[in-house]
Amino acid sequence: MNPFKKEIYYISANKLSMGINCPFKLYLNLCHVQPKHFDNKYTSAGSAVHKYMEDMFTEGAHDFDYYVNGMYQPEENRPLYVVPEEMYDRVKTCISNGTKWFNGYSFDCEKPFNVELKTPKGRKVMLNGFIDAINDEVIYDWKTGKKVTTKDDYKRQAAVYYYVAEPKRKVIFKSLLDGSEFTVTKQHPNYIPSLCDQYIDRLEMHEFDRNINALCRFCEFRTEYCYSGAEYDYFPLEIHELIKR
Ligand code: SF4
Repeated sequence: MNPFKKEIYYISANKLSMGINCPFKLYLNLCHVQPKHFDNKYTSAGSAVHKYMEDMFTEGAHDFDYYVNGMYQPEENRPLYVVPEEMYDRVKTCISNGTKWFNGYSFDCEKPFNVELKTPKGRKVMLNGFIDAINDEVIYDWKTGKKVTTKDDYKRQAAVYYYVAEPKRKVIFKSLLDGSEFTVTKQHPNYIPSLCDQYIDRLEMHEFDRNINALCRFCEFRTEYCYSGAEYDYFPLEIHELIKR
């Protein structure tokens, strides 16, 4: 009998994708490791553009400064993020394209989902996450980098959105920077449930190998924890603790 077996496994779309793409990164995340020297210029630029798109479809967008200076968090007495000046051109281009291509459309934004599924190995999973923009026909996920068509990790994330959307809508990952996109319109019904099995198997077997890949240069753990040669045993966490997360 497997001592780690759970009645139900809660998996976020983010972690599922991360765990399949790089198990070592998933492990560091599950251990809540906080890198000290991460340059978050790409993520802060992405946050500014996402907030702009959300406002455009809901309450109406503010001016450029509002987004690059980050939303003030009164409860934490600091901004959520601040975009460095070197990223201003990227944010401006994305905001300008987003307005040109999508202003006037109607979407629900940052929509949460929580979907129960059964895996081929018989596990019950609750898959959860957020969708950037959704209406009756389509789901959009906004990207702020170039060439979204070449990234397998994005294709897996898109597959999760397609799986959880009911009734099915096409899913489009769209770069607001260069206009590149890819679309998911069909999928084997067992694709996502099988990925969930793969994810849980890795946790249960404590398999957290590195996968050096195209997204490493954006990874917050790259210099401090990964390329430095740290092994996951540096962050000892019992397997029963991991499986709870
Ligand atoms: S740098 Fe690459 S290999 Fe290392 S943890 Fe991040 S994604 Fe994984």
